[in-house]
Amino acid sequence: MIKLEKLPYDYDALAPFISQKTVEFHYGKHQAGYVKTVCDLIDKTPMVDLDLENLIITAASDSVLTKLFNNAAQVWNHQFFWKSLTPIKENKTPSKELLSAIEQDFGSMQACLEKLVETGINQFGSGWVWLAKENGVLKIFSTPNAQTPITKYGTKPLLCLDVWEHAYYLDYQNNRKEFLTQIVNNLLNWEFASLNFQSV
Ligand code: MN
Repeated sequence: MIKLEKLPYDYDALAPFISQKTVEFHYGKHQAGYVKTVCDLIDKTPMVDLDLENLIITAASDSVLTKLFNNAAQVWNHQFFWKSLTPIKENKTPSKELLSAIEQDFGSMQACLEKLVETGINQFGSGWVWLAKENGVLKIFSTPNAQTPITKYGTKPLLCLDVWEHAYYLDYQNNRKEFLTQIVNNLLNWEFASLNFQSV
């Protein structure tokens, strides 16, 4: 059963960097819409019993299921996105192990943050920015539209950023760079990233 996963904080918790209105639309309309489409597509099919990750993997391997893949992957990516952000100050610091890996693979935390922003700006059209661990090395990359690294063997996402216009247009209009800059400097949940980094 695919459901609209509860937000890990209140609608207004990410303000002023992401407004309550944006969260209401982004979570309550966009994400909820993807959930509803998935439920409609799998209703009365054997896929109704699959969990979200297995649904995505199943749909990714069959071109007839592209619409299902897109909607299911959007559900997963959004769940991961909200967990990648936090209003809680204590959660905004990476573990020693993750910080050390960031310094080794990007040079510094500042360089890592700048690369997240730059990668988001360079994603043409809609998509996602990911910080992920690939074969023990940290990578930053983007995926277009609904694409998700969970279908890629050996890639473990640590954090993601939504760069679809619906993620920022109400607050930042066309200024994706400012949206990304505010998010990476103020809202990233490095505790969540650290937990993902530790689990293999
Ligand atoms: Mn979105």
